[in-house]
Amino acid sequence: MLGRFEQKKELFEKNKLKSASILSLKILENEPKIPQITPKTRRFLKLKSLFYILKEDHKNLVGRYILKKPFHYGANFLKSLLKKESYNRIGDAFLYGLDDLEEWKEKLKNKQALLVVGFSYCHKPLECPSGRFTSACKSQSADPVCSQCLIHKYKLLAEIPHTITFVIPTIHYIGEKILKIKKNYPDREVIFLISACEMTLKMFGDWGNMASIKGIGIRLGGRICNTMRAFILSEQGIKPGLTTISESADQIITESLSLWDKTQAGVDF
Ligand code: SF4
Repeated sequence: MLGRFEQKKELFEKNKLKSASILSLKILENEPKIPQITPKTRRFLKLKSLFYILKEDHKNLVGRYILKKPFHYGANFLKSLLKKESYNRIGDAFLYGLDDLEEWKEKLKNKQALLVVGFSYCHKPLECPSGRFTSACKSQSADPVCSQCLIHKYKLLAEIPHTITFVIPTIHYIGEKILKIKKNYPDREVIFLISACEMTLKMFGDWGNMASIKGIGIRLGGRICNTMRAFILSEQGIKPGLTTISESADQIITESLSLWDKTQAGVDF
């Protein structure tokens, strides 16, 4: 007999097939052959990221959270800035504060941890009933669009105690969420699993290390943002292209959630 987690997976696939026969969603026909980040954008990306995050900090996250502990956060940030890369990479997985996927699996075995799962909004279907450039996500199995949406699948699989899921519209949104969660749950180790384009994952690294949170970022493919201009437009909701997720990346997300589900088995919501 299938376990609860496998049953949810099977139910999603069944629903997806049924809905696809009624309504076809727009998909990306071919994977575009574009660099993940253009060479010009790659130059001084850490500095550009720092400048952008400070300039667009309209909710004063730096003042409200970071300057409250300037030495702690400052030292972590500087340490990360001085590294060539703020992450270790294995295929489409970017590891923050972790050496390899084995270490990630060990983190997922910690019953006392809190798992934050976030999906970039550009991962939403164009037909999303909650709108595309928003953190809103009604995620309803009865909806013909949701039932074909990967975010819906992951949200169903992530219905696990001590798990917080959300859709990420901007880089500041995810920063605020994580800083708030860290503040609200001082006794739990906050670990995270997010999906985003390579550029965002690179820009996010030093800030994640500053908050000393460990986790993985899953790189998206398809019509990703590979220039600073495309990134800024997408942060304003201008993102007509669709992104994709590789089979191996999908497998990492699903296996991570499955392992976390086993760890949390028997824990009340
Ligand atoms: S699950 Fe969320 S993101 Fe996906 S289509 Fe439904 S509302 Fe949109």
